[in-house]
Amino acid sequence: MSERPAMKIFLIDDEPFALRMLGHQLRTLGFTEVASFERASDALEALERDVAAADMILLDLQMPDLDGIEFVRHLARLSFGGGVILVSGEDERILQTATTLAKAHALNVRGGLHKPVSPDQLGKLLNAPQVNAPPARAPRKSYTPELIQQAIANGHLVNYYQPKVELATGRVVGVETLVRWQHPEDGLVFPDQFITQAEEHQLIDALTRAVLAMALRQARTWHDMGHPITVAVNVSMDNLASLDFPDFVDAALRASGVPNDRLVLEVTESRLMTNALTALDILTRLRLKHIGLSIDDFGTGHSSLAQLRNIPFIELKIDRGFVHGADRDPASRAIVEASLGMARQLGLRSVAEGVEDRADWEQMREMGCDVAQGYFIARPMPADVFDRWHADWDTHRALLFGG
Ligand code: C2E
Ligand code: CA
Ligand code: CA
Repeated sequence: MSERPAMKIFLIDDEPFALRMLGHQLRTLGFTEVASFERASDALEALERDVAAADMILLDLQMPDLDGIEFVRHLARLSFGGGVILVSGEDERILQTATTLAKAHALNVRGGLHKPVSPDQLGKLLNAPQVNAPPARAPRKSYTPELIQQAIANGHLVNYYQPKVELATGRVVGVETLVRWQHPEDGLVFPDQFITQAEEHQLIDALTRAVLAMALRQARTWHDMGHPITVAVNVSMDNLASLDFPDFVDAALRASGVPNDRLVLEVTESRLMTNALTALDILTRLRLKHIGLSIDDFGTGHSSLAQLRNIPFIELKIDRGFVHGADRDPASRAIVEASLGMARQLGLRSVAEGVEDRADWEQMREMGCDVAQGYFIARPMPADVFDRWHADWDTHRALLFGG
């Protein structure tokens, strides 16, 4: 017991009885540094003074003065870096939605607990090592367009690759390219901290071109090694505004020696609506050049159905918001089911993003999805790490799937 690092825990619940119960359970589990708050506003005040006052917050969702959702919003504002566990006596859906919301605020959500809380579950959440913990992220801050431009020009962008794996066989059928910025001082900066800026300041073309060129060079290396991996690159709607984009992509492919049908461009449907005609022109010409098109984040946009009819996609990626936890959430499952049905009828390959655990994997396989991508299989990795992972995966795959 003495090995346990002293985790500072904030317990927030307006019911004194629940507070006492949880406090007792925590002490039994060996957690001694527990501060209990009947009023969320008091806890907030403590965090306003020192955001590192807690390593972990157990937060009741229903509270009279400041409810859990509002509290989560404040935690995001304070860039709270500790863990968050949501606790609720309401139905499962509300707990799920609240968890999703907190994750969307980039909080480190450890999970949700249903009241009455079982000591077992509580212990599991608190003791779970940060499995698959993301690599240390650069501090959240925004970057000026000038800095982003320099990063592109100075070659500070690096591609990470995340495998896409066939659910039936475990075969690696492709990778998705995900760009990161290797910042000399800040460390690894993630795309959510510069893509939008790049789009807003006409830098996205230069960015995409740099990412694409690197991805195609890498694809060529893989092909030369005897791995004809299909490489996917994300394109922004703003890339689909310049009419010479297809010619640029075609030329880059030719320069790399990678066959056109080994490249897939992932297009986010929520941004497909603006400039519809130009985009349609460009997408159709890309397809005429046998470049693959994938509809990304399916289910989150507004015009998905019309886009599916108009644009010659070959692949449909179901958004991770519906995939992860689908086994426990009938509404998500229904949406996945409908998306898969649509993909099947239109002859598209289906890809489930956000397959984070075995339950997600089994669920997607049972539902007949073609391909899975997510932390359960592997996190995005630099090319050399991917190569080692791939060799290792193939060894185990033979055992798991019979070759
Ligand atoms: P996306 O296209 O939806 O990419 C998938 C994101 O989900 C990636 O985040 C990936 O690391 C993450 N992810 C993968 N597996 C899992 C999982 O099991 N669970 C969870 N929770 N997340 C998972 P990342 O790398 O931070 O990229 C964020 C977004 O930035 C991407 O979302 C994409 O829209 C954009 N992006 C990345 N690279 C580029 C690029 O080169 N160009 C453009 N225009 N956008 C890019
Ligand atoms: Ca994508
Ligand atoms: Ca996505």
